Amino acid sequence: MMLTVDQARTRILDAVSRMPAKKCGIVDSLGCILAQSVYAGENIPPFDNSAMDGYALIASDVETSSDENPVTLDVIETIPAGYAPVKQVKNGQATRIMTGAMMPGGADSVVMVEKTEAKEGGVDIFDSAAKAQNVRFVGESVKTGDLVMSAGKVIRPQEIAMLASLNISEIDIYQRPKVAVVSTGDELTPLGGELKPGKIRDSNRYGICAQLIEAGFEVIDKGICGDDVAELERTLRSALGQADVLITSGGVSVGDYDVVKIVLEKLGDINFWRVAMKPGKPQAFGIADGKPIFGLPGNPVSSLTVFELFVRPALFKMAGYTKLLRPTFKAVLETDIKNDTNRVNFMRAIIEKHNGRYHAKITGDQGSGILYSLVLANGLITIPVNQTIHAGETVDAQFFGDAF
Ligand code: AMP
Ligand code: MG
Repeated sequence: MMLTVDQARTRILDAVSRMPAKKCGIVDSLGCILAQSVYAGENIPPFDNSAMDGYALIASDVETSSDENPVTLDVIETIPAGYAPVKQVKNGQATRIMTGAMMPGGADSVVMVEKTEAKEGGVDIFDSAAKAQNVRFVGESVKTGDLVMSAGKVIRPQEIAMLASLNISEIDIYQRPKVAVVSTGDELTPLGGELKPGKIRDSNRYGICAQLIEAGFEVIDKGICGDDVAELERTLRSALGQADVLITSGGVSVGDYDVVKIVLEKLGDINFWRVAMKPGKPQAFGIADGKPIFGLPGNPVSSLTVFELFVRPALFKMAGYTKLLRPTFKAVLETDIKNDTNRVNFMRAIIEKHNGRYHAKITGDQGSGILYSLVLANGLITIPVNQTIHAGETVDAQFFGDAF
């Protein structure tokens, strides 16, 4: 039996669960999901301050000020940012004030420096001022006791800056899974090694590690393992001991040496699936010692695509995310594309916006071993089973990876 893409993904997502929470320094929490509520313990800003370089004054003193008839005020003090004023502003007086500096008592408005001219002992003010103009009030951004963030929020740079402004250096976040990666196959040669007859380079492990890093997960690179039951069992057990999730590459299709299958079945409750998709039909998924194991197919495009469509969402669920899938959108096809198979076709495409609409162009040969088709692409388009989509018609599309 073949599973549809949705059936396979649902089974995977149902089988994995969110990791426990832990304390984390705020900068290290980038990309993590908040596991607590955050309340403000302080006002932001902590005091009334000036939004401009200028003069703090009493608005009613400069009611009649204009370019032609400036009002002249005595300047009693200069307040740089970071210092508290010592003098009270009275009628007829002003304080020179910098952006972010604390408002002096008595003043209720700030006139920007561009509308003034300093002179011996005082200042000419060339504009009238409204009360509260150019003043940032204590707590106007956030008040003590306010709920600032709720559990479930993704921590982005702006959340980290906000936490810092609230004097919070550590927060509870959901742990992100550590992921071990193993490439399997007697044909695989590490980089730098001599390529003997019949051998190829191990590219999948590098691709998978990079996909993990791009998505913000910690990688445990377990290297290459040959098609040998004892060696593979040792490697996979060691990987499971170190990681929260195990990803293997290769050896899950029919016709393989059954080595990966034999070992994965020994480790836990692993299912070998055929998923109605192209590339990426053969896949393994299951749980061992409570830890998810993904057996990715060996073909390079299949490996990268299955990671993107199945593994990444599952890892995001474990990290506490609720939005798991990349957004899809419609793109107009440039040429006719026929899918006369019973497998959904994920084709590599260049997706570009012209005149407000996305257009998709296929990147040449779509074989699941043709990694270059993905190098040329920035997205995937979906051609449903047994359908021909004609040029000018639309298909579902999504970007592949974070940078496009
Ligand atoms: P398998 O899934 O092991 O049957 O492999 C399918 C195809 O992918 C074969 O042509 C393998 O040589 C190739 N392949 C398997 N593992 C890797 C890898 N780590 N890097 C590049 N190609 C691979
Ligand atoms: Mg193999």
